[in-house]
Amino acid sequence: MINSDNPINIPRLNQIVFQNSNVLPVHRKHMVALSIKDLTVQYQSQKKKVCAVDHVSFSYKENESIGIAGESGCGKSTLGLAIMKTLQENASVVGEILLGDKSILSMSDAEFTKDIRWKQISMVFQGAMNSLDPVFTIKKQFEEILKKHSFEGNYKQTIESTILSVGLTHSVLDKYPHEISGGMKQRVVIAMALVLKPKMVIADEPTTALDVLVQAQIMILLKKLKKEGLSIMLISHDLGIISEIAEKVGIMYAGQIVEFGNMQDIYRNPKHPYTIALLDSIPKLGETKKITPLKGNPPSLVNPPSGCRFYDRCPQAMEKCKKEPPKIKTESGFVMCWLHE
Ligand code: SF4
Repeated sequence: MINSDNPINIPRLNQIVFQNSNVLPVHRKHMVALSIKDLTVQYQSQKKKVCAVDHVSFSYKENESIGIAGESGCGKSTLGLAIMKTLQENASVVGEILLGDKSILSMSDAEFTKDIRWKQISMVFQGAMNSLDPVFTIKKQFEEILKKHSFEGNYKQTIESTILSVGLTHSVLDKYPHEISGGMKQRVVIAMALVLKPKMVIADEPTTALDVLVQAQIMILLKKLKKEGLSIMLISHDLGIISEIAEKVGIMYAGQIVEFGNMQDIYRNPKHPYTIALLDSIPKLGETKKITPLKGNPPSLVNPPSGCRFYDRCPQAMEKCKKEPPKIKTESGFVMCWLHE
């Protein structure tokens, strides 16, 4: 039977019981909706332009969380960095990112830092736990964040309540990064993203490089934070992980969102052949069916082919797929594929 909280029956997460009596609720202000319209991000590298995000549009409402899924290099991290206005200098961004009714892209950097970054939206960067500074204690690193954002409240109280909210004890604050485990480091970087009580956190591959038990603990932590009112954008190559958290899912392929909709609709009735291939790549409990890997590689984003970008790998490709596929409305979103015109 399908569990409505977890339509994919993932053994490694939903079979594990995790209890942590230290976890305290963090109260947040109202959450806010995010809307992305026709967003394009290009990187200029020497003589080449790489279009990492290509005319991406989607939105989700207050109280919702979203997953962005796709292979490495599909543009999902760039999408997160664009929302955080943290792209490299050689990146150009066009389109619209609205947080509530505020246009993020039309804000100056100073305005964004003052009002939005870390206070309304923060990010757990990919591999962030490995970038903790080895020569400072965890407490010192929290203090630096608060200083950087001109925090005027009580440092000690704020840091201690945040560290408790991710299931760690105060004792971790006096430790150096090498003195704590990978799972604890990941909780620390999540706590750092939460220290100014943002309404939304973008978590980029927060469970990668962690063993399955620690992955489960981090996912349970994210679910707890979501229940307390945090809106999460979870970026992952793993649709199983996303199914644990998100109400909405965007499937990204070669810089484009090729399918978007409610998690339940996409898991129960995936429409794009790439979504189907991603779902087929997840091992399921009790299933003996051999997993079939998707052959081939995504196209280069320097000169992406015209027509459907999945054409070379698609088992259902047709002649007309050489033309740009239409965006077809679905029950709760859209799919970009000629099969559904
Ligand atoms: Fe496959 Fe054609 Fe759909 Fe692209 S448009 S995913 S090639 S069927």
